[in-house]
Amino acid sequence: SAGFVGYKLESELLGFKPRSVFSDLTSQFSLTGSQMEEIATHFFMEMRRGLQGIESSIRMLPSYVTEIPTSREKGVYYALDLGGTNFRVSRFTFDGMGSASITDERKYTVPDSKMTGTAEELFDFLAECVASLDTSADDASTGGRFYGFTFSFPTQQTAIDRGTLISWTKGFNTTGVVDHDVVELLRDAFKRRGFEGDITALVNDTVGTLISAAYTDPRTHIGVILGTGTNAAYREKVENILKLPKEIRDRGGEMIINTEWGNFGSNGKMLPSTDVDREIDDNSRNKGQQLLEKMISGMYLGEMVRLCLVRMYDSGEIWSEPGVEVKADLRKPNSFLSRYLSDIEYDMSEQLHIVHRVEKTFGVEGSTLEDRIKLKEICGMIIQRAANLTACAIAACIRQIGSQDSDLVVGIDGSVFEHHPSFRQRLSAGLGELAVQCNVILAKDGSGQGAALISHGALIAREKLTS
Ligand code: BGC
Ligand code: MG
Repeated sequence: SAGFVGYKLESELLGFKPRSVFSDLTSQFSLTGSQMEEIATHFFMEMRRGLQGIESSIRMLPSYVTEIPTSREKGVYYALDLGGTNFRVSRFTFDGMGSASITDERKYTVPDSKMTGTAEELFDFLAECVASLDTSADDASTGGRFYGFTFSFPTQQTAIDRGTLISWTKGFNTTGVVDHDVVELLRDAFKRRGFEGDITALVNDTVGTLISAAYTDPRTHIGVILGTGTNAAYREKVENILKLPKEIRDRGGEMIINTEWGNFGSNGKMLPSTDVDREIDDNSRNKGQQLLEKMISGMYLGEMVRLCLVRMYDSGEIWSEPGVEVKADLRKPNSFLSRYLSDIEYDMSEQLHIVHRVEKTFGVEGSTLEDRIKLKEICGMIIQRAANLTACAIAACIRQIGSQDSDLVVGIDGSVFEHHPSFRQRLSAGLGELAVQCNVILAKDGSGQGAALISHGALIAREKLTS
């Protein structure tokens, strides 16, 4: 419009610089209240479509978990937890009175070569880890070893102990797993190593987190992961899961749905995205997929900051004073770690000492205070958007549950939620903006315990069927 042109001319006459990359970024990354409302509404509609089995970016996968724990669970059960970066093997002992303890646990880092090799290589690696558990403490009363397999990727389940991988996420790209039953693949690897063990349940980490949080507090209705990846599971009325066969729906009751919300927005324009988001997606192993996850989760937050910094550096808006030394790390993908966002946020010192230290680790020497302030603001802006988007997603789930109860508990686990110092507060503010009432708690390390509890539940159900 004429007004705009007039403004431009005037600012040029006054010698103003064009809009800075920094201010462009901050405006692109910020979400208004009405944008958040709109995202939450789209999210809710996608959930409904997913439940009906209509094409949707939110898959809404049935988990076949239809009970929450009673706290009377008793015995020794194992959890095999393949998450984003680790494989954890744990033995849980449940005392029958609502208390659980871990009586053995091993943690292994999944080497990148297993994430991109063949199915046999990956599953042999898992079996080898399981074999390292000592058997002396096994519980004779359960008559064998029972494993709950936490597999933190989207699987299409047809039963509690059956499910095929739909697609890899979080940088995994192993061949021969998509469209295969992952329980079968693990059983085969066990056999190749010549050992016994019954995998009685296949569980997404969000489902495990929900079950484990509900074991302590039955008011828990939603389990969320905000870690390497992001996702949520919630308790749905079976009658609402229209894509399930009628025989199952007629039984009524509840079933936990694994939403796979990380994929939200991958089918259209429901998520306002920036060119930084497009670059992250272009460089990922799963282009076009998990677009919400790529804005929220720990696998991408650091890289998002780096890409913003590259843009600002190239336009001379950061680290441009003489005497500042910037090493090549700035151009190296994934060199800015997501945990730096937490470290930087902790820094309340006047001179931003911690920010300075992070810069050094990253490869920048001699920055000015102004540089550090900008870096801190970029990190804040990125975590703020992640928290707001999470709020939109939780709001949609609560709307679908149809609860007005402020006692409803949302159990959240994962590094972003646990370790970022202001994420929780920003999330609460976002939920407040959307007028959502709920009780957000840290549900630490629940994915394994939940799977162990479910393997117990599945076992009981199976005994009932065969007796
Ligand atoms: C996967 C989910 C998982 C989440 C958190 C996502 O990438 O698709 O299945 O629950 O990460 O681990
Ligand atoms: Mg995990």
